[in-house]
Amino acid sequence: MKCPFCNQDNTRVVDSRPADDNTAIRRRRMCDACGKRFTTYEKVETIPLIVIKKDQNREQFDRSKIEAGVLRACHKRPVSAEQIHRLVDDVETEVFNLEEREIPSSVIGEIVMDKLKDLEAVAYVRFASVYREFKDVNTFMDELKKILK
Ligand SMILES: [Zn+2]
Repeated sequence: MKCPFCNQDNTRVVDSRPADDNTAIRRRRMCDACGKRFTTYEKVETIPLIVIKKDQNREQFDRSKIEAGVLRACHKRPVSAEQIHRLVDDVETEVFNLEEREIPSSVIGEIVMDKLKDLEAVAYVRFASVYREFKDVNTFMDELKKILK
């Protein structure tokens, strides 16, 4: 990075710390040429991720919606808030790692189900029944049998 005082290229970072609101990194830099110090801020660029819903409407990816769905599925099941939080973290990471700008909600739903399956069987079936809109009890039972095997 160029020194704002003498325009030389050889500056180095002498200190890094999060800025007050934690959305940026504050760096103190020193210029090796003139010895002056200056401050820079690095911001993380947020990339908006768009979810394509079943009705083809688009909305911004919203972690809290996933969390609410999982929470509902885990109602009165032995799953801690911490476990749910971690599961949603994993889902979010996986979704962002797809590196797509637009992702169908069905893809996100499948990722959630995949992780719920390992966490809690009943919660998984509940989530799947809402998500896949099971038409009747038989479909529901089939799904249940599959995971209990
Ligand atoms: Zn300088």
